[in-house]
Amino acid sequence: MNILVLGGGGREHAIAWAIKQNPKCDRLVVAPGNAGIAQIAECADIDINSRSAVAEFCQDNAIEFVVIGPEAPLAAGVADALRDAGIACFGPSAAAARLEASKAFTKEVCDACDAPTAGWARFADADAAKTHIAAQGAPIVVKADGLAAGKGVVVAETIAQACEAVDMMFAGGFGAAGAEVVIEEFMHGEEASFFVLVDGTDVLPIGTAQDHKRVGEGDTGPNTGGMGAYSPAPVLTEALQAQVLEQIIRPTMAEMVRRGTPYQGVLYAGLMIHDGQARLVEYNVRFGDPEAQVLMMRLGAQVLDLLMACAEGRLSEMAVNWADDHAMTVVMAAQGYPGVYEKGSEIRGLQGLPADSWHMVYHAGTRADGGRILADGGRVLNVTARGRTLQEARDRVYDMAGRIEWPEGFMRRDIGWRAIGTD
Ligand code: ATP
Repeated sequence: MNILVLGGGGREHAIAWAIKQNPKCDRLVVAPGNAGIAQIAECADIDINSRSAVAEFCQDNAIEFVVIGPEAPLAAGVADALRDAGIACFGPSAAAARLEASKAFTKEVCDACDAPTAGWARFADADAAKTHIAAQGAPIVVKADGLAAGKGVVVAETIAQACEAVDMMFAGGFGAAGAEVVIEEFMHGEEASFFVLVDGTDVLPIGTAQDHKRVGEGDTGPNTGGMGAYSPAPVLTEALQAQVLEQIIRPTMAEMVRRGTPYQGVLYAGLMIHDGQARLVEYNVRFGDPEAQVLMMRLGAQVLDLLMACAEGRLSEMAVNWADDHAMTVVMAAQGYPGVYEKGSEIRGLQGLPADSWHMVYHAGTRADGGRILADGGRVLNVTARGRTLQEARDRVYDMAGRIEWPEGFMRRDIGWRAIGTD
């Protein structure tokens, strides 16, 4: 089978790595890919947010199955265009992708199906939003309604901060994404992520994870795209997973069917856990990055069978073949990230590292320059390993990371501290 993966980060490197191990995969193309992906697949330079460019590429290259990594092509309707062209595709329609593309839409769906989530209100006018904030008090959460690359959320400690966030969003700080704001009740607790595949009606859990969003050790400093992750997330017990499926995910999926926009793809539920109960923080309509890296390492080659069954409405026939394992990924980022950083520094020492079903360095932002690998982004490498315990996975990750020679980079040394402390 000829397969195309859309995206060019560590998430797509991990997805491609898992797919490539499945004997059903004959030809693997990733667009746009990166220097690490180029070691295992062909890379193609196409505009992945263009419905026609992706569909034409598939027709010209006899692509039989497409896996869409990031949210932007999903929100742009690339999955719809591919299905219209008769090409099998893993990923929701633009209508169903609104579960990530509009926070107000998700809240409406939650209300319609009684899924537990933070209390909320939406505003298209700054004065009304501020009156509401003053009445509610702080802490309080201010969100731009639309996609803002993970930056459209302000958790405000004070009423003044919340009002400032409202002004910034209405002043166009997030472009069209901030035309409306959602104000939410602040939820206390511990965050974790739950991943399920959905084929319209059937739901299949494929793992839990926790990530570390802050740049600094001890979860301090500015937010990033994620500095590391591990799976499973011990806080999401079997009992909590069952609660989330019955009270949040299945009702949401039934509501999407009722609205005539059934969901197909991976659904990533961001949850807040407090006093043994979970509430929904947000849905994402794609794998997390870096959570995908730990999920893919744990699932391995069966990923292709699962994603195809999902796209073909056959999830009820599938079961996940779990190993009793743990995985961890640590992000190596360019110094300065998430602020200003330089591109182009050379990374050495990658070639001597193990690359097997227990160890892998996924590339997030790299480019090749002859035989050299150069940093080409903020988050650059995802050093990933699996072990029988999380501690074993962590020891392997930091052993590999310590052998990478990249003085212009940095990493957090405490990934997994909530689960196993620091050492
Ligand atoms: P990302 O894609 O980076 O996860 P996003 O822009 O989609 O972010 P959310 O996930 O909704 O936005 O919010 C980002 C973060 O803000 C959450 O991971 C959580 O830490 C915090 N947050 C959001 N809503 C709430 C809430 N109601 N109470 C407490 N914290 C919240």
